Amino acid sequence: MPACSFAQRFNASEKSIILSGDTATMLRVTQITEAQELKVLTSVSADINPKDPLIKVLARRMYLAMRDVRRPGIGIAGPQVGINRNIIWVKRYDKEGEPFELYLNPKITWRSELLRKGQEGCLSIPDAIGDVVRHHSIRLKYTDQSGQEKEEIIEGFTAVIFQHETDHLNGILFTERLKEQEGKAYYSLAGQLDFMTEKRYSRP
Ligand SMILES: [Zn+2]
Repeated sequence: MPACSFAQRFNASEKSIILSGDTATMLRVTQITEAQELKVLTSVSADINPKDPLIKVLARRMYLAMRDVRRPGIGIAGPQVGINRNIIWVKRYDKEGEPFELYLNPKITWRSELLRKGQEGCLSIPDAIGDVVRHHSIRLKYTDQSGQEKEEIIEGFTAVIFQHETDHLNGILFTERLKEQEGKAYYSLAGQLDFMTEKRYSRP
């Protein structure tokens, strides 16, 4: 029996948020500036039962919130719409057509030692951007929209989005990562590592 069978369906207060509007309306994006919403943003989320019929409604309303023309994002997590459940949308820059995809109960099961630094912002934190150190590659376990359990290795900027969104599921904001990284020393590989291809190499 898969582990997800033990995940609870949405409770009454989650249902009332999900059904507060129809699938043509976006959910409100929670902000750290609101005490009640900050509490949701800093809480650890629970797994979602992939069979819950309300996932479709939640996913659609989350998607609309993420793609709000006033401040479009490239990823969103459950707590950002007031739901402490393990559900995220991520823009797959590493796939053809760069589609947005939905992931249920995502878990990072491996992180590369190789790190990368890149600029991040967050829909829940007004006016903040910063350079965050993340793992270059990750292995991700998740359940897809059809209920299939999957695992894959993801690299580069797309892996950064997954790390930012799964942090949200653990109640961690990127500003907390910045603080944590302030005192750390990083060993730069510049000059130590040469990236190259063979001279005769031709693209397939
Ligand atoms: Zn965020």
